[in-house]
Amino acid sequence: MQFKAFEEGIEVNGQTVYAFVDGMGEFKALGEQYMSGVGIGRIKKGKWLFDRDGWYPQQAWLDAMATIAGEVGDGALYRIGCTIPSNAQFPSGIADMQSAIRAIDIAYHINHRKNGKGCLYDAAAGVLHEGIGHYGYEHVPTKNFILSVSHNPYPCAFDRGIISAMARKYDIGTIVIHDDSRPCRKNGAETCTYLVSW
Ligand SMILES: [Zn+2]
Repeated sequence: MQFKAFEEGIEVNGQTVYAFVDGMGEFKALGEQYMSGVGIGRIKKGKWLFDRDGWYPQQAWLDAMATIAGEVGDGALYRIGCTIPSNAQFPSGIADMQSAIRAIDIAYHINHRKNGKGCLYDAAAGVLHEGIGHYGYEHVPTKNFILSVSHNPYPCAFDRGIISAMARKYDIGTIVIHDDSRPCRKNGAETCTYLVSW
C-alpha cells in the first residue's frame, strides 16, 4: 500500500528528501511547508532550514508525500520521480540501461537505514538488508523486456518516474509503462508492475 512504512525505525536520508522537494519545481514552497509540518526541517523567516546530511523518519516523509500527492496529483508525482536519478545518491559502476534499472534497488537501500544503524546496503558484502521492500528487476530471457515489480511504500506514479528516468538516462528510446492488468498500490495492493521495453 502507498504511503505506509513496512516497519518502524526506518529512516530516509536528507539528500533523498531534498531531491524530492527540489523536483517539485513550481510547487517547491508547498513541499517545504509540508516537510516542515511533519518535522522534517523547519521554516524560519520563510526559509526551510533542513540538514541534507541528516536522517528523517520514513513514515513522516511518506505522510508529507501523501498530502503533497493529494494536492499536486499523479502527473506531478511522476515528474518529481523523473528528477530523482539526477539528484539522489546512486551506486557507481552503472554501465547501461539494464544495470541502471538493477541499481535502483541498491540506491533505494543506500538511501534508507533502520534503527539508527548504517544504510541498508552492505557494499562490501554486496548484501541488501530487509525492511523497506524492493524495486524489482526481471529480464525476460531472449527479449528486450524487463519486468519491474515495485514492492515498497512509495506511490505508483513516483516510481514510474524514477524507473523511466533511470532507463532513459542510458537509453533514450526505452519505454516504461505501468501494467494496468496487474494489482496497483494506488488501489491498496502491495505491488505495482512496470514493463520496460526497448
Ligand atoms: Zn501502480
